[in-house]
Amino acid sequence: MKKIRLPAALTVKELADRLSVSGAQVVKYLMSNGVTATLNASIDFDTAALAADHFGFEAESEDAAPARAPAGGGRARHPLLDLSGEDPKALVPRPPVVAVLGHVDHGKTSLLDHIRQSRVAAGEAGGITQRIGAYQVDKNGRLITFIDTPGHEAFTAMRARGADVTDVAVLVVAADDGVMPQTDEAIQHIRAAGVPIVVALNKIDRDNANPDRVLQQLSEREVIPEEYGGTTPLVRTSARTGQGIDDLLDVILLVSDIEEPKANPKRPAVGTVIDSRLERGRGPIATVLVQNGTLRVGDQVVAGAVHGTVRALVTDAGKRVKEAGPSMPVVVTGLRDVAVAGDILQVMDSERAARTLAEQRATTQRQAIAQPVRRITLADLATQTTDGGIKRLNLLIKAEANGSLEAVRGQITKIDDPTVRIEVVADGVGAVTESDVNLAAVTDSIVIGFNVRPDPAAKAAAETQGVDVRYYEVIYQITDDIEKAIKGLYEPTFVEVFQGRAEVRRVFTVDGRNAIAGSHVVEGRITRGATIRVMRDGGEIHKGRIERLRRFKDDVREVAQGFDCGITVEDFTDFQEGDLLEAYTVEQQNL
Ligand code: GDP
Repeated sequence: MKKIRLPAALTVKELADRLSVSGAQVVKYLMSNGVTATLNASIDFDTAALAADHFGFEAESEDAAPARAPAGGGRARHPLLDLSGEDPKALVPRPPVVAVLGHVDHGKTSLLDHIRQSRVAAGEAGGITQRIGAYQVDKNGRLITFIDTPGHEAFTAMRARGADVTDVAVLVVAADDGVMPQTDEAIQHIRAAGVPIVVALNKIDRDNANPDRVLQQLSEREVIPEEYGGTTPLVRTSARTGQGIDDLLDVILLVSDIEEPKANPKRPAVGTVIDSRLERGRGPIATVLVQNGTLRVGDQVVAGAVHGTVRALVTDAGKRVKEAGPSMPVVVTGLRDVAVAGDILQVMDSERAARTLAEQRATTQRQAIAQPVRRITLADLATQTTDGGIKRLNLLIKAEANGSLEAVRGQITKIDDPTVRIEVVADGVGAVTESDVNLAAVTDSIVIGFNVRPDPAAKAAAETQGVDVRYYEVIYQITDDIEKAIKGLYEPTFVEVFQGRAEVRRVFTVDGRNAIAGSHVVEGRITRGATIRVMRDGGEIHKGRIERLRRFKDDVREVAQGFDCGITVEDFTDFQEGDLLEAYTVEQQNL
């Protein structure tokens, strides 16, 4: 099949031109699949790919990785959330959406709880308030939406899944404790998202509170408070006494007035799933933060690979509503399945259109399982396509101690090559964590770990997200590798790492060939990305990557010892009962 590259969104007419068919043919095809679209209607990549397939093209996404915020700032919105296509006259202000970040125990949860309760105390809520993952409060007749899951892990995990909901970030710093490692991480994560910061200098009621010291620490990190001549608003708060919390809300609204978040409530809704689960008696439920348009009971919706009809909408105050406008979080019932947090929910014209898109995405996801994503690796640097001849290398550095972190940074700044711009997107002391990997994924960075090891969750995240995580014990090796990579001379050394062993118990034929090995894992585990050595009578007869790894009818990522699975191996269709399959991965060796 011919390949064609398509953007995240395009009009039916543009698609027809690219496919060299008439617009009417595309419209007709889409109609036959339940998608009613005029020539000028904008369709998303998934829909376009479906049509492309019908006309004999294999579609590839033009931005293989979804649009990313450039490191160090700037925002990239999901195409469905891009307002540039909206009539400016239709756009009206919407409440700001606020995320709360900061070091553990500095009072994020207490602040969120206090803000929430003060509203209930005002006697405004009708029903029983419930935690749905986000809530709205009223401040002098204006609304503010708070995301109820504090911390940069949740913040960046959502972004790594493509969701970008936050307009203002509240950075909580305890006045007694000051800036701590996770405060630094939070600052880096907020910066990478390009979101404005409001500092809540919390626990101001404590005897040992030392606000001046914290202001100083923040300034050193270029989060310069207004009272020091900078641009970052800072409010002294206490989640215990409630001091300053009203001011904090006012300041959030002030910052929001500069940002001017807007939306067009008069269009079908687009939003983000921020929480989702199966609930007894209600079926699958999802908290959706509406970002543009208005969501209504009866709407046909699709969220990722899940579709349904909106049966009921319930607010965080437990009130049933008929509709939810921009920046409003609501619990949606009526989805056919549990949606994935971070997925975009959109309203479709018909049940059929919603179902078709959901099914198409389910198929794409199944295919994607067989093909791990690949982001930038150090070895790619030499061949990177560049703007104006300058390559970009974004790094996220973790080291075992402050001293060695400084040393690594120092050496990296010494790399002086006019063809490459190296930017340290984030750094910190400690192991490489899952949230580091997520941040690297959203900023297209390579992770460098110096004298540290990954935690298992980070390793798994790096594998699924295709992030290049590299470990070093000698500094010059880091700069050496980077310099070689810039020149295209970098040749990684690879080692085989044994993973597991399976015994072929039954062979299944496809087109008369012994293509599928019905196997039992007798040792370790077998994962999708592994290479298989087929052993017969003690000798190797073939070596190849796993093509498919299945349990029952499903593609799986991993099969553990004691379980059965079906394995197909690239370029091999000659399995016999009794063959031994040794799985190994090929890993880059850098100490
Ligand atoms: P989180 O980990 O950032 O969510 O922090 P928590 O909200 O769980 O707060 C950690 C501890 O600090 C709890 O024991 C809170 O009661 C206490 N705490 C939070 N805010 C304040 C405050 O403003 N003043 C005082 N004195 N204690 C606070």
